[in-house]
Formats: sequence, structure tokens, C-alpha cells
Amino acid sequence: MTARDPEFVAALRHRVAGKVRESEPVARFSTYRIGGPATVLLPARAEDVGAALTLARDAGVPWFTIGLGSNILLPDEGLDALVIRIGKGLDRVTQRGESWTVGAGLPAPLAARRTAEAGFGGLHIFVGVPGSVGGGVYMNAGCHGGDWAEVVERVTVVDETGQDTVLNRGDIPFTYRRSGLEGRVVLEATVRLRQEEQKHLDEAIAEMFEWRQSGTPFNQPCCGSVFKNPAGPSWKQESGPSTAGQLIEAAGLKSFSVGGAQVSPMHANYFVNTGSATSADVKKLIQHVQGVVHERFGVRLEPEVKLIGTRGEYQNKE
Ligand SMILES: Cc1cc2nc3c(=O)[nH]c(=O)nc-3n(C[C@H](O)[C@H](O)[C@H](O)COP(=O)(O)OP(=O)(O)OC[C@H]3O[C@@H](n4cnc5c(N)ncnc54)[C@H](O)[C@@H]3O)c2cc1C
Repeated sequence: MTARDPEFVAALRHRVAGKVRESEPVARFSTYRIGGPATVLLPARAEDVGAALTLARDAGVPWFTIGLGSNILLPDEGLDALVIRIGKGLDRVTQRGESWTVGAGLPAPLAARRTAEAGFGGLHIFVGVPGSVGGGVYMNAGCHGGDWAEVVERVTVVDETGQDTVLNRGDIPFTYRRSGLEGRVVLEATVRLRQEEQKHLDEAIAEMFEWRQSGTPFNQPCCGSVFKNPAGPSWKQESGPSTAGQLIEAAGLKSFSVGGAQVSPMHANYFVNTGSATSADVKKLIQHVQGVVHERFGVRLEPEVKLIGTRGEYQNKE
């Protein structure tokens, strides 16, 4: 059975309070604006996620979680998997002293602003990272020298048993851009923040924004960094070529395109959809860039963007 099966869709609608959309173009849930139709669940509450996962398991239907779709390349053919889109309904924020609990569906830039406006630093660095809290934790997203692993105290997840589990920081094997939370859906995260002087936070946010604006093609669909940096985080690194972007630029590939996918003329580690890009175009561009960089510098670039197959499977090797 697949998630497109009318029987599965009917059973799902019966179990959840959220909306179930059939043949929904998933391109609208990806910042690349690429991806064909799928059955999509928009959970209205955390319980919907557990119910959907157990139903999918029992029916033998694969599933895939999407947050704000800012780090994924979805298939042109669409998905046979059930797509669970975590957003509104799982976006509450609560605070107890320095401990903040943020829902997985909350956009990270909003979490950054809300906590910073209350005088707390730690999440403020994510003000320009256009993902969700859940996607950030799952990816261990990071920037400006920090990442989610640094602030997380505990994370509530649910798996195919439908049961919520609270994982303490020490139980989560965070590494560079990875949490090890495969097979689970993040429902919320509790982070420990630090009280900081408001002026300092405002200045830091303004500086980060300026840095982002000057180097990000915000006016074109893209998914941020396509490749991991071979040597880890790179912010404000002075010499090169050593980061993925520097290597691609030094290989003369800025503005190189395949179909509607182009290496951004602004930032070589960002590939943009110039309007008509398909998933196949982006994959071909990735392969071409990997080949040229390997030939020129002997470095094998590994995609940071998650390449997703029609059953919701990851096509990148981890
Ligand atoms: C302009 C731009 C700038 C960016 N800058 C940065 C940056 O500086 N640093 C950085 O690290 N990233 C950056 N990114 C990439 C991206 O924003 C982050 O990786 C982000 O955290 C992904 O969150 P998301 O909600 O969009 O996840 P998605 O793209 O929706 O999903 C990414 C992965 O997380 C999984 N996932 C999503 N939500 C959940 C959940 N609730 N539970 C379990 N798994 C989940 C998905 O299944 C998928 O495997 C940038 C992207 C863009 C477009």
C-alpha cells in the first residue's frame, strides 16, 4: 500500500484532527519550489503525528517529515510516502527561567526573535536560518560558530509506536549537521538560554542579518548550503579555498547551470532554481560540481541538502 491509496487516506482522516491533503504538490513545502504530488498530513496537534506513524507502520506505508523544507530536494515524481508537515499546531513556546520549550513547527527565526526580545541569547544566532525548530534539531543546524546541540537540554520525539519519548541531551548523538534522530519525529525541544544585555543581542542580530543579506540569494528559491564544508563550520574564515563555496568558486563554477538549476552567482555553495528547475537538474548539477572539484582539488564534496526519493528515503550516503 502507498499513502496515495484512498483506503489509507480515509483511515488517516478518521484518526487525526489535522488536515489530510491528497495529490498535494510538495513543491510548495520546499524552499527550492521543486517536488511533485503526495498525500500530506498537516497535524493539528502532537497526537496526530503518533497516530499517523502507527497507522503508516501497520499499513506498510513509508513516511517522511517536512518542516519548512529549507534543506531538502524532493522528487519530481512526488512521493508514495505519507508526508507529515510539521508547522502550526506544534509551534507553542513556553518559558521557565532560562529553560525555553519551543515547538518543532515554530520557524527558527521566530524562536530566535522571541527569545532575544525577552533578553535571552543562544537561539538568536538562527535569526537568518529559514528552517523550523524540528528541522534545526534534526539537522543540528548551525551558524556563527554555534549549533542546536549547544543549547538543547532535551527533545520530545515520537516514533512508529506512537509513544512520545523525552530524550536528554546526552542521549542524542549530535555531530556536525546531524542528530542521529532518524526514524523519529521531533515534537518539541527544550533549550537552555542565557540572559544577555538587550543592546548586545540587538547588535549581534543586526550584524548577522547584514552578513546574511550580503551573501544570500534571498530573491531566488534555494536550500542554503548544498554541500557540507570539508573542514566543518566556516564562518568568517579568512583564507581559502577550503570551504565548499570557496572550492566551487575556485573551480570556476559560479553561475554554471544545468537546465533551470544554477550555481548562485552570489554564493557558490548555494544552487538556485531560476524558475524551471527540476529535481533531476539539481542532482545533475550536484554531480557535475562534485566531479570538477574532485578533479581540481582532490576533495570529495558531500551534499548537506537531503536528497529524497519517492518513498521518502534518503538518497545521500551519511
Ligand atoms: C537561505 C538559506 C540559508 C541557510 N542557512 C543555514 C545555515 O546557516 N546553517 C544551517 O545549518 N542550515 C542552513 N540552511 C539550511 C536549513 O535552513 C536548515 O538545515 C534547517 O534547520 C532545516 O530546517 P527545515 O525545517 O527547513 O527542515 P526540512 O528541510 O523540512 O527537513 C530537513 C531534514 O529534517 C527532517 N525534519 C524536519 N522537521 C523534522 C521534525 N520535526 N522531526 C524530525 N525530522 C524533521 C526532514 O525529514 C529532513 O530530513 C539554510 C537554508 C536556506 C534556504
